[in-house]
Amino acid sequence: MLSVINRRTLLQTQRRFSISHKVCALRAPTAKDEEVLMDLLNNRKGAIINDPEILKKYNSDWSGQYIGKSPIVVRPKTTKEVSSIMEYCNSEKIGVTPQSGNTGVVGGSVPIKNEVILSMEGLNEIISFDEDNGILYCEAGCILQTLQDKVSSDYDHLVPIDLGAKGTCMIGGNFATNAGGQYFFRFGSIHANVIGIEVVLPNGNILDLMTSSRKDNTGYDLKHLFIGAEGTLGVITKVGLTCPRLPRARNTVFLACNTFDDVLKTMSCAKEELGEILAAYEFMDKEVLDQVASEKKIPIVNEDGENYRFCVLVETQGSNDDHDNSKMESFLEMTMENGHVIDGVMAQDLSQVHEMWEIRESCNPVIKSQGCNYKYDLSLPMKEYYDIAEEMRERLSSRTDIMVVNWGHVIDGNIHLNIITPGKFDVDQEVKDLIEPYIFESVVKRGGSISAEHGLGQCKNNLLGIYAKNDRVLSVMQNLKTFFDPNGICNPGKFLPTKATP
Ligand SMILES: Cc1cc2nc3c(=O)[nH]c(=O)nc-3n(C[C@H](O)[C@H](O)[C@H](O)COP(=O)(O)OP(=O)(O)OC[C@H]3O[C@@H](n4cnc5c(N)ncnc54)[C@H](O)[C@@H]3O)c2cc1C
Repeated sequence: MLSVINRRTLLQTQRRFSISHKVCALRAPTAKDEEVLMDLLNNRKGAIINDPEILKKYNSDWSGQYIGKSPIVVRPKTTKEVSSIMEYCNSEKIGVTPQSGNTGVVGGSVPIKNEVILSMEGLNEIISFDEDNGILYCEAGCILQTLQDKVSSDYDHLVPIDLGAKGTCMIGGNFATNAGGQYFFRFGSIHANVIGIEVVLPNGNILDLMTSSRKDNTGYDLKHLFIGAEGTLGVITKVGLTCPRLPRARNTVFLACNTFDDVLKTMSCAKEELGEILAAYEFMDKEVLDQVASEKKIPIVNEDGENYRFCVLVETQGSNDDHDNSKMESFLEMTMENGHVIDGVMAQDLSQVHEMWEIRESCNPVIKSQGCNYKYDLSLPMKEYYDIAEEMRERLSSRTDIMVVNWGHVIDGNIHLNIITPGKFDVDQEVKDLIEPYIFESVVKRGGSISAEHGLGQCKNNLLGIYAKNDRVLSVMQNLKTFFDPNGICNPGKFLPTKATP
């Protein structure tokens, strides 16, 4: 309640602040710098990329919306190499953009100007797995899916993070963005599962914040500062992560509801009836299902062969099949009897489980191919979760060429609201002006957050002081930045505001 009041007050007052952290003028890397960096990487073949064609991939984000101008990518293989790169760039005042899988959707992983791109793809070793405590230790450049596969097949545990970009994103990128994903409700955020990290500071110092203990109350818990800092305070090079046992029982169902109120009532019933085994509750509206249907078969449709108004994917994870099945049966009986669920299907084997998840995970890539996407990753109070989508439809009703499509982690109050101009891939300023800042103001008035899980990057950094944090909080953040990165070389122009609040 308190935070709701604060955010509302914030919007009403909109105080001014000055950009207090001092940023030195950074310079572009030259051919001479390239030589030094190559030397620091032991003249290893492929350690530096400067071919303009290959550079394009590193200079462009997943959506193609943010394009950088970096002339050079460095690809270290060890923490020591990361350290010497940072030390050199800091002494020469050259900006560095850490990049992992480059799947971020707020433009954090591509340079704004000509910063050196520090690719983490070479730091990809799984160091060890502590089977007694269920702790994974690995380098930051490991691909999330590789970790998931290894931990489940070799150790019978699971990685408590899962998201649609798992085949490309890296664990260090997940830590740097404090990625949420579909099992956030079940396992909590990365802050809840981190055991330790190793981080290279902008001056090249290596900070060992790794531990082997689950409990450790000695001193300030510094590791948390780097989680979600989007590479602005240092480069994460190793992580330690708690991993729960693989569930022995897993049930996945795809259900249809007529109204959003039914979606919420069904969720409430799932919490009550499925209790401790409820692992995920994901939502998609008809508008997004209609798009996904062009590439994937939706498992339930109405009598006319059309997608239902809303569908939810519900998953349970537990240790006893009989126990879980009986709970799932009673949940389904209850929701169908009271009419909140009108149709449904249960996965019969693992391949059907994957098919259901593929539908949910296809939402993002499928709509990307339809046209320009105006993406909003919002947190909202549960009762107002879908109102924002209806409100935006109403606001944009004069533009019949626009679609508002939605999906999200409804159980966490997190909606992915996407506005699309089908067939038109360039940003339409008239559409953008109709959406922003209206949408942010509406979210803050409702007590929500303008960035639930994707972060700020270069997309929302200048909104931080307007719609999220007050002057005093912002000033502490800026002092922290100055303390860790006095020259401002680490991911410049991202995360913190670069413009004063209007
Ligand atoms: C299809 C799709 C689905 C997605 N689903 C979700 C979802 O469900 N939940 C969610 O939270 N996000 C989701 N995302 C967004 C994205 O995948 C996450 O933000 C992810 O954690 C980014 O990881 P990455 O390895 O790609 O990092 P990058 O995109 O390379 O980097 C992201 C940020 O972290 C910084 N960074 C990267 N590595 C390091 C490092 N080692 N040390 C310090 N800073 C670093 C970068 O500078 C940048 O600011 C999705 C994206 C796509 C394309």
